[in-house]
Amino acid sequence: MNSKLHAGRSGRALWFAISIVATLCNASIVAAQTLPTSAGPVESPLIEDLVAANRILADQGVLDGWGHVSLRHPRNPNRYLLSRSRAPELINAEDIMEFDLDSNPVDAKGRSLYTERFIHGEIYRARPDVMAIVHTHAPALIPFGISKIPLKPVYHRSAFVAAGIPVFEIRERAGMTDMLIRDQVLGRALADALGSHPAALMRGHGAVIVGPSLQRVVGRSIFLPLNATLQMQATALGGPITYLDPEEARKIEEREGYGLGRAWEAWKQKAMTKPQGSAAK
Ligand SMILES: [Zn+2]
Repeated sequence: MNSKLHAGRSGRALWFAISIVATLCNASIVAAQTLPTSAGPVESPLIEDLVAANRILADQGVLDGWGHVSLRHPRNPNRYLLSRSRAPELINAEDIMEFDLDSNPVDAKGRSLYTERFIHGEIYRARPDVMAIVHTHAPALIPFGISKIPLKPVYHRSAFVAAGIPVFEIRERAGMTDMLIRDQVLGRALADALGSHPAALMRGHGAVIVGPSLQRVVGRSIFLPLNATLQMQATALGGPITYLDPEEARKIEEREGYGLGRAWEAWKQKAMTKPQGSAAK
């Protein structure tokens, strides 16, 4: 009787303990599912500019069916905005999603995500000064990532190249891979290679370009491949090349985007009125 009573109490105690553990587990699952929280809605002109940045870079040939542009959240530095997995020229406002710096979506709503979104999360974490990031596979940049010839500033629009454009060699950090930045570890390795520079080439893959604003990063993303093309053309001519002097580059960069607003207006109007964009809706 006593032993039955004891067994009954033990059984109830065990059931109670299991219930507590189950409740805690469920709570943690719910917490994991509901995190990260949103930093709040973003003003529609900012979203419109992020959509425009995608369309501009597609229109300018910097992004093809791949590559992406992100913007740090205006109210929370630990969040960023990036499209769902979609070709940049087709992106609309409703495609823009919010992520935390671990690159978890706030609310995926069943949408597929860019495999290489970790590029963005890890660079925003490492570089508080960076407000916008572009990842491109622009072909003109590839020769400088696979050869020993460094990119140097040859053109006043690309004066930022004078700060140095390092090359990220993924083999040094991860051995043989499929070359994609598939997780936080590889994202951190790329952020390390970027350091404090405005861009880094990714050997045999493309580049990552950063900036203090969306307009600046779009401008840099257009002029970096153009600088690469011009440098290769000058090299093909033979003989010595006169690069921008570091002092010239500094004076150009001091002009805060060298009147980029005028070009932005024209790029945006052209990209947003292209038939490809409207056909995608
Ligand atoms: Zn890529």
